[in-house]
Amino acid sequence: MQPPGDEADWDTPIFEPTERDGRLYGRGVADDKAGVMAHVAAIRAHHGTPPVNVTVFVEGEEEVASPSLPALLDKYETELRADAIVLADSHNWKVGTPALTTTLRGLVRVVVEVQALDHGVHSGMYGGAVPDGLTALCRLVATLHDDNGDVAVAGLMTSEAAELDYTEDDLRADSGLSEGVRPIGTGSLLSRMWTKPSMTVIGIDAPSVATAANLLTPVGRAKLSMRIHPAQDPQVALDALRQHLMDQAPWGCQVRVELDDLGEGFSANAQGPIYESARAAFNDAWGTEPVDIGVGGSIPFVASFAERFPQAAILVTGVEDPDTRAHAANESLHLAEFERVCLAEAVLLERLGAINKGE
Ligand SMILES: [Zn+2]
Repeated sequence: MQPPGDEADWDTPIFEPTERDGRLYGRGVADDKAGVMAHVAAIRAHHGTPPVNVTVFVEGEEEVASPSLPALLDKYETELRADAIVLADSHNWKVGTPALTTTLRGLVRVVVEVQALDHGVHSGMYGGAVPDGLTALCRLVATLHDDNGDVAVAGLMTSEAAELDYTEDDLRADSGLSEGVRPIGTGSLLSRMWTKPSMTVIGIDAPSVATAANLLTPVGRAKLSMRIHPAQDPQVALDALRQHLMDQAPWGCQVRVELDDLGEGFSANAQGPIYESARAAFNDAWGTEPVDIGVGGSIPFVASFAERFPQAAILVTGVEDPDTRAHAANESLHLAEFERVCLAEAVLLERLGAINKGE
């Protein structure tokens, strides 16, 4: 669960589940408590004896990148081994349109340091002949995108995302893009967020404006967050980024790249009898076929399960809808959708049982 945030931003008490217009409001009601309760409801629908063996594993570290999980999966590998693994931590496409999340992007995060001088010097004395680390850093960072806003690092994987209806107006409304600002990148909007790399400067160490002196700053430092294609090896992407930063060093400045974090993406093999059963179960519950969606960020525990159990069909489902506002004020759960999520999982168990019996 995420921290509650500022109480003043909430319309109802943060930790008192409050029902209003078919939604239940409160921190954690959707992300992740409802995901856990969907599993409970599915088992309860079968009076505790579903037609397949079920192991329930409740993971409590998802919001802090699940650091203990790989060791737990090693330790309890036998107990947790399964043909199908249902991870209910994602979202559906729209209210009324269910989804299976079949891709998650991976992550490469680095700190890049650009050194121009052994020590700071007077900008009036040497400026014009001597570069400074901060300006050099800005020039280096500027090489990371081309003029269209696509990531300019060579050697990164891209592919097209599933074709779903998502317009620039949707993007503007969802992201809060300021007036007059154009989206960046090329290709479909969903491929830019799901299956192409992205690059963001998420921090810079620099003298603050308030304390700035007339000085050539010797060293500039930035933290870069790069999202990568779901199937890209993070180590290969890191090497490509490092090579780019070294090759583009402005004016012969010294460039150092330090790894901060690597995260595996996820790309499901979304075929075979278990995926077919899931799609049919979703269709039973919603009366409409589910769509395959991607998520631009990572859910580290999904990659951990995929790595530990490569033979299992991993189904990433979820209770959230576009208006859930997970992590934000007024987080809520759409109760009719939640009912369909529970029903779909109960039907999925039934259908998996039928596969077992060869029906
Ligand atoms: Zn969350």
